[in-house]
Amino acid sequence: MRSYRGLNTASSESEIRGLIFDIKKFSVHDGPGIRTTVFVKGCPLRCLWCDNPESQSPEPEIVFWKERCIGCNICLEVCPSEAISVDSHGFRKVIKERCTLCGRCVEECYAGALKQVGRYMTVDEVLDTIEQDRNFYERSNGGVTISGGEPTTQPEFVSELFKRCRAKQIHTALDTCGQVEWDVLRGILRHVDLVLYDIKQMDPAKHRRFTGVSNSLILENAKKVALEQVPMVIRVPVVPGYNDDKENIDALAKFVCKLKTVKEIDLLPYHRFGKAKYERLGRGYRLQHVKPPVEEHMLRLKRILESHGFNVKIGG
Ligand code: SF4
Ligand code: SF4
Repeated sequence: MRSYRGLNTASSESEIRGLIFDIKKFSVHDGPGIRTTVFVKGCPLRCLWCDNPESQSPEPEIVFWKERCIGCNICLEVCPSEAISVDSHGFRKVIKERCTLCGRCVEECYAGALKQVGRYMTVDEVLDTIEQDRNFYERSNGGVTISGGEPTTQPEFVSELFKRCRAKQIHTALDTCGQVEWDVLRGILRHVDLVLYDIKQMDPAKHRRFTGVSNSLILENAKKVALEQVPMVIRVPVVPGYNDDKENIDALAKFVCKLKTVKEIDLLPYHRFGKAKYERLGRGYRLQHVKPPVEEHMLRLKRILESHGFNVKIGG
């Protein structure tokens, strides 16, 4: 049985913990103004193009940076669980099933080639970081965004953090893929000023093939969010060959027309910045063959959506 450091057990609201893999300050791509974006770990989707693969597992993980490794083998010696192997290229790989996350390899790796991704933090701890940039939020009409991974996989933590932010007059934005039971999402929405809602593909079979799940719950929830009168921004990752055809963009426009609280559609061009992360996790990158969309193509898609009357932005 695994024995994670910082187990998520809470006996009061101030002790509720979230599993966080990053907190990004001065973010300008996750909602209006200057924001702090809190990235939670755990996601029900497995999008082929995901640029944050370290966000997917709902548990902490050890990642390996091959370019830093000096091959000293200290990690193999100190690991009490024989959870580190060396592959034919000399790369160290953590065997998840054996790893107890004791952290010894991370502490002993002189070269900094091993790192734990994901740690449990209390609402107070995260709030302290958020409050450091309060002046910037006020001057830029910014605030806090919770992203992921998928924030709704940690509803207690996310609700409490948003509630506390709002009590301090900090604007709150939820970045969600929408793959969640409606009652859970509705509970969080009570504390949310803006929803950044991801829609990736309108065809249910393709959606399942590219993300691991159908889009039916996602589209149903999008309609319900709008009916709750919560302002929305629709975010669409544009992945050549996967969802950038006119048919899909037209179907998207037709659907979004029904969502009366949508202020804007953001088209997010596919990029390959996440590729190295797959290697660090010991996983293969499945979109080797896909190139980022050219600017002209992005502008063409933007014009299609604008012709349906939407405000459209390229980028977040
Ligand atoms: S301890 Fe660090 S540098 Fe040494 S072999 Fe292990 S990962 Fe590489
Ligand atoms: S954290 Fe490192 S040392 Fe500890 S069990 Fe996992 S691989 Fe071994």
